[in-house]
Amino acid sequence: MDITKYTIDGVVIGLGAVGYHYEKGIVIYLSEGDASDYIENKDSSLVDIIHSVYSQRHILDAWSEMDNFEHYRLQGYGGWMSLKSDYNYQSQNEFHCQAKLVLEHDDSTEYQKKVAQTIINVLYGDYIEPEKPEKSPEEKAKAVFDRKKPRLRLKLVIRDGYQCDNCGSNKENSLCIVKKDESSTVLEMENLTLRCRSCMAKIKNKNKK
Ligand SMILES: [Zn+2]
Repeated sequence: MDITKYTIDGVVIGLGAVGYHYEKGIVIYLSEGDASDYIENKDSSLVDIIHSVYSQRHILDAWSEMDNFEHYRLQGYGGWMSLKSDYNYQSQNEFHCQAKLVLEHDDSTEYQKKVAQTIINVLYGDYIEPEKPEKSPEEKAKAVFDRKKPRLRLKLVIRDGYQCDNCGSNKENSLCIVKKDESSTVLEMENLTLRCRSCMAKIKNKNKK
């Protein structure tokens, strides 16, 4: 996760976000020249900037959390609902407070507000999971084919014997089921046969050319 950066009073600052991947804290990005200018000239504006960042730390932290939320909080978990099932009350309460802060702040981005609203909806039980996109007819046919494979293989062995239909080899542990006519989605036994992997690759390459 990248550190989220904000520009405050012309200086880029980064937040060591929420104590998850980083220590909590503020990173101020200054070029070497800028840094020595501030120090040599005893420029007090740097202190003002730190003050400014510090006084805004809650909303900055909340924005940073919203910007990165899905990328690390939900990764590898069961989507948004994991927010209720996998986090304790204290964490949920923290998310809730930050989400509210973001929704109330005029400078929050649309994306931050969207994440905040989703968090609140999930915590209040108002979240409706988006429907999974419909599978295409090809995907459906493939799923059926994969499910039926073990039984089809058995039928083919009974019909043709355990051998590759091209070279007659029976050395492989698991001969592949292939369709003689690739374009057909219908699973008819007449269209199916067993083939070894090397023949399958050879025939596929030949068809490509
Ligand atoms: Zn073969």
